[in-house]
Amino acid sequence: LNRRLDGLGTTIFAEMSALATATGSINLGQGFPDTDGPEEVREAAVRALREGRGNQYPPGPGVPELRTAIADHQRRFHGLDLDPDTEVLVTAGATEAIAASLLALLEPGDEVIAFEPFYDSYAACVAMAGAVRVPLTLRAPSFRPDLDELRALVTPRTRLLLLNSPHNPTGLVLTPDELTAIAELAVERDLLVVTDEVYEHLVFNGAHHPIAALPGMRERTVSISSAGKTFSFTGWKVGWVTAAPELVTAVRTAKQYLTYVSAGPFQYAVAEALRLPDSYFETFRADLRHKRDLLAEGLTAAGFRVFHPEGTYFITTDITPLGEKDGIAFCRTLPTRCGVVAIPNAVFYDDIEAGRPLVRFTFCKKDDVLEEAVARLSRLS
Ligand code: PMP
Ligand code: GLN
Repeated sequence: LNRRLDGLGTTIFAEMSALATATGSINLGQGFPDTDGPEEVREAAVRALREGRGNQYPPGPGVPELRTAIADHQRRFHGLDLDPDTEVLVTAGATEAIAASLLALLEPGDEVIAFEPFYDSYAACVAMAGAVRVPLTLRAPSFRPDLDELRALVTPRTRLLLLNSPHNPTGLVLTPDELTAIAELAVERDLLVVTDEVYEHLVFNGAHHPIAALPGMRERTVSISSAGKTFSFTGWKVGWVTAAPELVTAVRTAKQYLTYVSAGPFQYAVAEALRLPDSYFETFRADLRHKRDLLAEGLTAAGFRVFHPEGTYFITTDITPLGEKDGIAFCRTLPTRCGVVAIPNAVFYDDIEAGRPLVRFTFCKKDDVLEEAVARLSRLS
């Protein structure tokens, strides 16, 4: 392993999901739903396979049907007008979109400011690009970013702000005022913005606002999303980038040499998913809001300090009230102690100490699974 990958080892999600399988535990660690997405979307994938659409290399930027559906989705939900031919790129999940964007846009030594805790692939991709990640730490209980601190972190070497809203793992959703302040800073200091919006349809209070829609942002923002979360098909690995033509061209150049193209038949199915009626998106959100409340109540009753998420399908908790100090040790022993798996937030920090007592649970599971998990957790002490 080269030095750039030092310390990156096995992802926490692989480690914890393997532990869940080995111990037969309820897995509230890795964020994937235990119910697949809509039947008609699955059928669309089967039809594409049968009819031979996408069984051979699809076009590099993504099949035209999907690129058009992504552009239409951006207009329908966010009022953004995109040219599907030049401003949309299909990727192998948001994960590849993040990797290709950072590899395409960063020079070795460039500084990237990202919220900490951060989704784990950010650190790895910034490192693989030879760049330097500069964390802006989000602190409990609100996890709101300190925008003066953000401004102070910008140096002449800063190239890019890496945003994530709704934010994994805290559930923070940036407000229009915060986004405006961040956008103004980006324009003033001539920074690029890469924004990971995979939870765009999981905002429980208020709405998701894409930073790309703000003045001066169109030409400097790479927006990333994915079908995995919105349609509950995390295994399909269909994601996308939307940005101005020069930025999409840059990201596509990197993508060509990472995967060349993304798997074909699922692209046709996701194109249909993106055209589902508004009621699908509303029901999805309402369902997850109910699950959030169910898990939040249960964790509170079990003695955890719960930080209510405004978005995503994760709840961050503090285990200090349980007499516990170390989230990593807690998560490693939790499966044998009570048959539940969770993720220690410490792994999402450069400074492990900052996230030491924080533990993340996902609520994208059936109600009876969440109820059973809570019952097990309440017998902990
Ligand atoms: N970004 C964030 C914030 C995530 O939580 C995830 C996990 N789904 C991803 C990106 C990766 O998305 P995908 O599965 O589409 O690669
Ligand atoms: N995004 C999911 C999570 O945060 C998992 C993705 C992965 O396993 N890489 O739990």
